[in-house]
Amino acid sequence: MTTNNSLAVQRVRHTLKLRHLQVRRVQQLSPHLVRITFTGDDLADFVSASFDDHIKVFFPAPGEVAPRMPELGPNGPTFVEGAARPIARDYTPRRFDPASGELDIEFVLHGEGPATTWAAQAKPGQQLGIGGPRGSFVIPTGFHWHLLIGDDSALPAIARRLEELPAEANALVVLEVADETAQIPLHSAAHLTVQWLHRDPADTAGLNLTEAVRQLSLPVGEGYVWAAGELAAIQSVRKHLVGERGIDKSRIRAASYWKRGAIASHENLDD
Ligand SMILES: Cc1cc2nc3c(=O)[nH]c(=O)nc-3n(C[C@H](O)[C@H](O)[C@H](O)COP(=O)(O)OP(=O)(O)OC[C@H]3O[C@@H](n4cnc5c(N)ncnc54)[C@H](O)[C@@H]3O)c2cc1C
Repeated sequence: MTTNNSLAVQRVRHTLKLRHLQVRRVQQLSPHLVRITFTGDDLADFVSASFDDHIKVFFPAPGEVAPRMPELGPNGPTFVEGAARPIARDYTPRRFDPASGELDIEFVLHGEGPATTWAAQAKPGQQLGIGGPRGSFVIPTGFHWHLLIGDDSALPAIARRLEELPAEANALVVLEVADETAQIPLHSAAHLTVQWLHRDPADTAGLNLTEAVRQLSLPVGEGYVWAAGELAAIQSVRKHLVGERGIDKSRIRAASYWKRGAIASHENLDD
């Protein structure tokens, strides 16, 4: 594939904005994943420049109808002193359509936690708040190959990336999900190779995901690796990519999207 595109990633800043949204539709994509479509006048100027973006989602406290939101001051969000903090978690803007004013977020139904509990009961008309995205990490599409690695929590981002890649791209995907019922159709114009793995609850170090990546033969040429999921698994995958494969760190974006036994955990893995 020849291209004149620069292969340098770009960081784009966005003005931070807090928005109130309403649920328009709820669609069960699998027993483990629900797509919730939001609307609201506040979405008029919403922008998401990268599949790697995240928004802070604010949920109503138990027994309340509207989410508690911070105030936006000159130095960023501030919280009312003495009042309970809003319940907030990070999520990927899966699809934004400016024409219909619809924003989709896909929630993993993993069982425990305010975000997954809210998503499991979501109904049209209910309210939610979002903040951001504050910035975007834009990875060019012009690489010869794209390796996308993740678990269920990264599935929305990976599915979005696949839909955004051009026909001349070569995408390799390794996804570890709960079981066969969590596999959903992935659509891409790119040449696509997808490997689904089923999680072994005893594998808390991410050995299976790392082994699957180890077995891959990568195409020749310039490539980029994007990986996200549980902290220990992505740390293990990144260690393999850098230490055993010798992939340049500047060609890897690795992040933990959650951490076993911890709430609301997010870390970009770079050293
Ligand atoms: C940048 C970014 C983008 C993200 N995008 C998405 C997205 O699009 N869709 C999505 O579903 N998630 C996404 N996540 C992950 C999501 O933010 C976390 O899973 C979050 O912890 C869920 O909040 P909760 O209230 O359900 O659980 P929490 O209250 O945070 O955690 C409760 C318990 O559940 C465990 N847990 C948390 N997440 C998972 C999980 N996925 N599987 C199994 N156990 C879990 C925790 O270890 C903890 O023991 C993203 C995270 C980041 C950082």
